[in-house]
Amino acid sequence: MKSMTADKMKQGMIGVVLGAAMLSSAFAMSVEMQEELPLSAQLEKIQLNRENPAVLAQMLPIVHCSFTPSKFEEILMTQLRDVNSSTKQFRRLSDQIGELLVNKVVECLPTKDVEIETPVAGCQGKELAEPVELCSIMRSGDALLETFMNHFPEANVSKFLIQRDEQTSLPHFKYMKVSSTIASGNQVIITEPMIATGGTLDMVLGLLKEKGVKEENIVIASVCVAPEGLLRLNQKYPKIKVVMNVLDHNLNEKNYIVPGLGDFGDRYFGTMEKSVK
Ligand code: URA
Repeated sequence: MKSMTADKMKQGMIGVVLGAAMLSSAFAMSVEMQEELPLSAQLEKIQLNRENPAVLAQMLPIVHCSFTPSKFEEILMTQLRDVNSSTKQFRRLSDQIGELLVNKVVECLPTKDVEIETPVAGCQGKELAEPVELCSIMRSGDALLETFMNHFPEANVSKFLIQRDEQTSLPHFKYMKVSSTIASGNQVIITEPMIATGGTLDMVLGLLKEKGVKEENIVIASVCVAPEGLLRLNQKYPKIKVVMNVLDHNLNEKNYIVPGLGDFGDRYFGTMEKSVK
């Protein structure tokens, strides 16, 4: 009787192990199948599943925030996108949405418990576990930088100047000044308001990795992102984290984000010359 029970338990355990193995190989297969989908099919799948955050999360694990903007984000984005918003309004709105972005970034950072005294009692609170480094990709990254510097006043700030060729959209390296502590295990936050093709970020991430920064320590903070750029980063840098305010639809033939808001840097700094339609 005893040995029958033991046998049954053994069989049960074998069943569980086999089941888990089958499940994990089915998962591996589904990931493999997803990787094998051509880019156009992946983009189509994203469009078809815009209202299905579970599918988006499975396709884009680098995204560490909700795919659905809050009502407040939608209201701010509507005004930010509006071609009739003045430079002054655009700056104020960008600063406001930047505050919401900081909140999302902090959700990705490791924290530790601390004991403090309030005037009334002792209590447990939280603080960031590791120092933060900020990286700005000029020029538009600088538009978000001030808000981030306000929240991380001790952070060193590294700067990158990568210029996008207007004709080919290819990134060209121009300049960088990187903090000496960038790779010392700190959390590195990159401010980049618009992720279009992801080409500029691809270059900056490569440079940061050359400097010894670990992918898993990098968080990209972006206002408006295109699926094309996200898929590229997801494939090449699967351990980074991306937080954003909104996921937009697609890129147009000039690699502007649609519906987007035009050139973020030009609108923030008041240097618009032409319509981008
Ligand atoms: N950069 C911008 O500022 N806007 C876009 O639409 C794409 C890249």
